[in-house]
Amino acid sequence: MKLQEHRGLIVITIALIVLSALALTYTLARLRENFTWVEHTNTVIRTLNGSSRAMLSAESNERGYLLTGDQSYLDGYKQARDNALRLVERMERLVIDNPEQAERLKALRPDIMARIAEFDDSVALGPPSLALALERLSVARTRQLTQRVEEKFDDMRELELLLLAERQTRVNRSTLQVAILTACMGVLGVISAGIGATLSARQRSLAALQSANDALAASESGLKERQAHLTAILATVPDAMVTIDENGRIGSFSAAAERLFKYAQSEVIGQNVSILVPAPSDDEDGSSLTRYITSNAPDSIGTGRMMTGARKDGTTFPMELSVGQINLAGRREFVGFVRDLTERHDRERKVHDIQGELFRVSRLSTMGEMAGALAHELNQPLAAVSNYINAARRSLDRLDDDATKPVRDIIGKAADQVLLAGSVIQRLREFISRGQTERQIVTLRQMVEESVGLAFLAVKDRTVQLAMEFDPAVDRVLVDKIQIQQVLLNLIRNAIEAMQTTERALRVTTRPAQNDMVRVEVADRGTGISPEMATRLFEPFATSKSTGMGIGLSISRTIIESHGGNIDVAPNPGGGTIFRFTLPVAPAETLEPARAG
Ligand code: ADP
Repeated sequence: MKLQEHRGLIVITIALIVLSALALTYTLARLRENFTWVEHTNTVIRTLNGSSRAMLSAESNERGYLLTGDQSYLDGYKQARDNALRLVERMERLVIDNPEQAERLKALRPDIMARIAEFDDSVALGPPSLALALERLSVARTRQLTQRVEEKFDDMRELELLLLAERQTRVNRSTLQVAILTACMGVLGVISAGIGATLSARQRSLAALQSANDALAASESGLKERQAHLTAILATVPDAMVTIDENGRIGSFSAAAERLFKYAQSEVIGQNVSILVPAPSDDEDGSSLTRYITSNAPDSIGTGRMMTGARKDGTTFPMELSVGQINLAGRREFVGFVRDLTERHDRERKVHDIQGELFRVSRLSTMGEMAGALAHELNQPLAAVSNYINAARRSLDRLDDDATKPVRDIIGKAADQVLLAGSVIQRLREFISRGQTERQIVTLRQMVEESVGLAFLAVKDRTVQLAMEFDPAVDRVLVDKIQIQQVLLNLIRNAIEAMQTTERALRVTTRPAQNDMVRVEVADRGTGISPEMATRLFEPFATSKSTGMGIGLSISRTIIESHGGNIDVAPNPGGGTIFRFTLPVAPAETLEPARAG
């Protein structure tokens, strides 16, 4: 039932209760009044009866006294007579409201008074005059006063009885009305109680509804908060993040994902996740990606899969996809983290290129260095051969014999060839020491960082603690980058190899040196230089390692000296070794943009 209908019922019920209460009050007043009237009528009847009895009693006592002369009759007579008079007076007061009865009493009163006067006369005569008294009695009998008085009393009594019956009827009617009204009020009370109960139940359900509403509002605000939280995560998460439902439909798309795929969030929400990968010919709907995500989600977080991503403009890029699963109110959702591998691939390619280049240079240098060493070693025997040939030629010249002429010619040719060999070796040595290098302005920091990366890759060791410190004032140098990286790579690799059994801490620093040079130091905490190596450290083929070639440091010295710097070694005060070399800082006027890489 609606509240409107309730309100109408309540108003009607209250009106009925008020009306019933008024009617009841009125009826009760009437009932009380009727009661009073019944009571009054009864009093009138009692008084009439009393008067009648008093008159009879006066008469009996009068006779008794006259016949017996007994004083007690006389007393009884007086009492009855007074009583009769008093009751008549009372009657007069009682019937004042009833003109008819008042009229009758008025007519009755002279008879009563006359009758009492007769009594008084007889009594005054007393027993001695009994005869006279009896005569008067007989006269009185003839006058029939007593009878008349009684008849009038009867008339009055009859009238009062009629009144009594009528008033009694009224009382009964009022009583019935009271009973009906009381019953009505009882019914109304029950109805009110019913309405009250309904209203209170309704109130309770309203309160329950209200609290449910409050809970809903609270959960809504919680939901909003969580939504805001999610939005904040989506906006700030550094990786591209995409959530999808079980059918592969995209539910959210992070800001990083927008940048990576070049789609706006609004363009992809609700779309199938397959739009983010190039559609392969055998999987037009891209459902295999959805299948991969939904089936691998629970255990593939952290173990990403390499795949190709497609941007909005159709271009593709290498990406790593790792997926996770979230359970939302019994519904599964999947989160995909996408990492762009373009840069990593580029970096790896670059490292690979540098490695190749270094390997090539290293081989060339090694060959050059070996040729140099060879030239050095061959110089002596060649000089000796030359001397011996010259001595032989001189001896043959002294013979001056035609027969020796061809031999002299041959020896002369041999001497020329030896000289030629000597000059070839000399030229080779000059070529190696002069160095055909390509100089450019590069930053030391970048070179050192790349070399450290390569060295760590080469020795496959990541447990060494690394510290680097660069002085930006002397960071730009004019060098052959590949060659200097070769030097750095040698020094860092030697340092790591020297720290196999000791504390593993490597420190590379740059600081200004004299004559516009920068000093680079590579310090390790290794075993230090062994005494037998100390004197021939920079000589070719000097090595203490079973697999070493012993040419790294000699090449390094050649390279550094060809750059106008020098290289030396010193013990590290805290244990280990410090290799130091200098390089020319790029002059201010030759500053030009460094060639990348
Ligand atoms: P290789 O490393 O092939 O032996 P190198 O010319 O680079 O050739 O080094 C020559 C020798 O110098 C090494 O065998 C080693 O005994 C010593 N050496 C070089 N660097 C260090 C270093 N940082 N600590 C200790 N010894 C070193």
